[in-house]
Amino acid sequence: MTARIIDGKTIAAELRGRVADAAHRLARDRTLVPGLAVVLVGNNPASEVYVGSKTKATVGSGMRSFDHRLPANVSEADLLTLVGRLNRDPVVHGILVQLPLPAHIDSQKVLAAIDPAKDVDGFHPVNLGRLAAGLPALAPCTPLGCVILAKTVRPSLEGLEAVIIGRSNIVGKPLALLLLGENATVTVAHSRTEDLPEVCRRADLVFAAVGRPEFVRKGWIKPGATVIDVGITRVPGAGGKSKLLGDVAFAEASEVAGAITPVPGGVGPMTISCLLANTVRAACMQAGLPTPDFSRLSPDESMRD
Ligand code: NAD
Repeated sequence: MTARIIDGKTIAAELRGRVADAAHRLARDRTLVPGLAVVLVGNNPASEVYVGSKTKATVGSGMRSFDHRLPANVSEADLLTLVGRLNRDPVVHGILVQLPLPAHIDSQKVLAAIDPAKDVDGFHPVNLGRLAAGLPALAPCTPLGCVILAKTVRPSLEGLEAVIIGRSNIVGKPLALLLLGENATVTVAHSRTEDLPEVCRRADLVFAAVGRPEFVRKGWIKPGATVIDVGITRVPGAGGKSKLLGDVAFAEASEVAGAITPVPGGVGPMTISCLLANTVRAACMQAGLPTPDFSRLSPDESMRD
């Protein structure tokens, strides 16, 4: 078997098109232009690239973008003051503080200071709690993107065995909650899991979020399974150049899987599109308007025992 490649670039572009349409309609019919504020502290080169892409995508989708660049030595108090100001600013509907923050700043404290209604990254404990309780929430962008990608292959995830490798607060745990909302049977594996290959082999859906290149091997994958690779690790490549590798040994896994995401070009492009989707949803929620369901994920009224 040769796996179908799940083209994250194309799927992310389609999602972005739907988000831009919704933003256009809000501006035309409600004079509401969704606005996203991005706060970047210091000049980490990778963060600069992410922030640049987010700003371009926001403006390209017909929304307002507000960039706030602060020096690496900014005090925690000054950063919290800025977050407070953005919380109160009516033209700002989404706030994103780019991580990582410098070591002298308590990231959790800053994330918790963001108004949960504007928390488009979905990292605020209130949003994670709402997700856990099955209430409408702003869900974290990367897990949301993973579920949308999986649903392009298996439109209903109900009853499927899903194994997530990795239990981080930004990927593994919220992904488990989203998949429960889709009525999948969810296992979260992690660094202390025993016999991980055996656990993986029972999965119809494998989500790898470990951060170890080519960690998941062919023999771990049930024939026909859908494999979503979240990992991104930069490694030395040919000719002194670097290249990106996922957590799954792509070439060999493709021989067994039914469908698989590549790295790059899989989960990565989805994250920004989901951020834009969350910004439009946040703007609608703050205006008391119905929230568009870009992911076709419904708040899990159907999740019943
Ligand atoms: P993390 O380091 O916070 O978590 C890694 C997880 O892997 C941990 O829960 C740990 O228990 C688990 N783990 C480590 N070693 C293991 C082992 N031997 N067996 C089983 N589990 C093991 O990482 P993260 O922030 O969740 O990110 C994971 C990967 O996803 C990274 O490569 C990161 O770059 C990537 N990522 C990509 C996107 C994107 O937009 N595509 C977004 C976020 C993270």
